[in-house]
Amino acid sequence: MNYFLGIDFGTSGIRAIAIDINSEIVDIARSEYKIRDCSSWQNVLYAAINSLPKHIKQNIRKIVIDGTSATVLICDLNGTVITPSMIYSDACKPEILEQVKKIAPLQHSVCSATSSFAKLISLLVNKEQNSSLIYFLHQADWLSYLLHGKLGVSDYHNALKLGYDPAALTYPDWFKDWSLKNPNLVLPEVFAPSTTVGQIQEGIATQLGLPQDCEIGTGTTDSNAAFLACVGTTELEIGTAVTSLGSTMVLKVLSDRPVNNSTYGIYSHRFDHPKLGCLWLVGGASNVGGAVLRQFFSDQELQELSDRINPDLPSPLDYYPLPKIGDRFPINDPNLAPRLEPRPNDPVEFLHGLLESMARIEAQGYKLLQELGASPIQQIYTAGGGAQNQVWTKIRDRYLQIPMQKSVQTEAAYGAALLAKIPL
Ligand code: ADP
Repeated sequence: MNYFLGIDFGTSGIRAIAIDINSEIVDIARSEYKIRDCSSWQNVLYAAINSLPKHIKQNIRKIVIDGTSATVLICDLNGTVITPSMIYSDACKPEILEQVKKIAPLQHSVCSATSSFAKLISLLVNKEQNSSLIYFLHQADWLSYLLHGKLGVSDYHNALKLGYDPAALTYPDWFKDWSLKNPNLVLPEVFAPSTTVGQIQEGIATQLGLPQDCEIGTGTTDSNAAFLACVGTTELEIGTAVTSLGSTMVLKVLSDRPVNNSTYGIYSHRFDHPKLGCLWLVGGASNVGGAVLRQFFSDQELQELSDRINPDLPSPLDYYPLPKIGDRFPINDPNLAPRLEPRPNDPVEFLHGLLESMARIEAQGYKLLQELGASPIQQIYTAGGGAQNQVWTKIRDRYLQIPMQKSVQTEAAYGAALLAKIPL
């Protein structure tokens, strides 16, 4: 039997999922980890692989790791991390952002306080200057390096927020000009996700009980892996969308062309499909979502109260359920105030209004993505905590009028395993 292993380093947990040639899950390992403490990542990675049954480990053909997008670090020639890593949510200082804006073109997506490029500049400022070579890597790049042993390799999902141009498959000229001024800095060479970088290092294979010829691929980001997990590889078609109903609401649609719009924070990841060709996963994120539901209801209350809603009847309440002031997509207004009035006495009516309003905002989001050039939406999968709410699904169905599909899997590690089986 041949197996393929996907490992997901998410915001708080790590999952390792092994699948067989039919994409069936054969084993799962889970553990918590501290994303801030990159010195602990190696042990967590090795422990997860080690915990898989021996007969599965011995037959793993390829491993792909996904990491949180824009979690980055600098290491030396030996792969030793030399500055504290910066995680996905860390923001650079305003003066660093000013520098970024002088280097990158106006409105480029790297001109944000949390972009990987802004973090790279922050890390360079904080590092003592000397003449030895340093490598800038994303979380997934460094974890994969621990297995294949080659520094300076990344994928075009992780490298997007660094400024890499996935359409031209090169770093843009402004970026190359800037990097010439930093001759000690080695930027990653960028490949498609799951490109085989090499075989696992001999000693690591022996230590972990993996075959010596186990291949290690380039990685991807946790949200792209989650998209693949939801949809699976056989059901992918142009116009396939995934709505993630977690703390926030994130919309993604697979399109035949990229859409990038800094006003609404919309950007596109490249997906090269073996049959469908070069596709783009166009995404936008709204601050509305489960975080607001959690302000008013426990998860149990959400389920119980939802069961008392008639999803066929529209709610007259028109909310914009933000946890705090400001949204970017589908309405770009940093001063947009949460709208949660009038609030009925009956919690069932109130929840009905919240769910219905978010369904309306979701429909508005998909309309905007299509107006800006994304492919027409053909089917929608749902991920995140809200996916289990069948009443909400029916309300959303009434608004969206697009076939709603059941997700294949919810764990991002499954998407990484699919990538290991069939590189996109
Ligand atoms: P994240 O990873 O973004 O924090 P999750 O995907 O774990 O979020 O989802 C958690 C969210 O799902 C919470 O904000 C919670 O309010 C919401 N949630 C949980 N159960 C339900 C439910 N039955 N209906 C709607 N939303 C729910």
